[in-house]
Amino acid sequence: MNLLDLREQCLSCQKCSLAKSRTNVVFGEGNPDSVVMFVGEGPGRYEDETGKPFVGRSGKLLDNLMGAVGIKREEVYIANIVKCRPPQNRDPLPEEQDICIGWLQKQLEIIKPEILVCLGRVSAMRIIDPDFKVTRQHGDFFEKDGFIIMGTFHPSALLRNPGNKIPALSDFKKLAEKVAELKENRG
Ligand code: SF4
Repeated sequence: MNLLDLREQCLSCQKCSLAKSRTNVVFGEGNPDSVVMFVGEGPGRYEDETGKPFVGRSGKLLDNLMGAVGIKREEVYIANIVKCRPPQNRDPLPEEQDICIGWLQKQLEIIKPEILVCLGRVSAMRIIDPDFKVTRQHGDFFEKDGFIIMGTFHPSALLRNPGNKIPALSDFKKLAEKVAELKENRG
């Protein structure tokens, strides 16, 4: 299956109760050959309205962090753990994550990124470790299931706590260095 076929299937998904309240499924978008995939927790209001991941103020902040270290949005792939907006922007429930994660797994199988960046607690707890603490472990690299994985702050959390923008920028610098290192090793 290719990414377009997978997207078509996902757009009509009714597998969990989030289907009832969504406006749009936010499948994910970006470079299907990307070395890096960013994974957030789920769509917010603007994402639900547009069907695109990380738009609005948090998306702009993500763009700025990437831009500060020389990464362009169109170079990477951006997705979420759940593809439909949880009501009132609550965290996606474990059972919603369990049902939806299959879409992300298929995206990973098709895109085959080498590095995953978990944006925020929910994504990092799901992908890296259920006990992951963003404040303590952000910017650390882990190896799991054949991926190099880093957790960092969710852009929405940075909007609420701007004091964490400097450590977040440091995480993005480490990410850019890791991408450069991988490209260099490939020759
Ligand atoms: S959140 Fe995921 S599993 Fe639930 S309806 Fe949306 S696409 Fe399907």
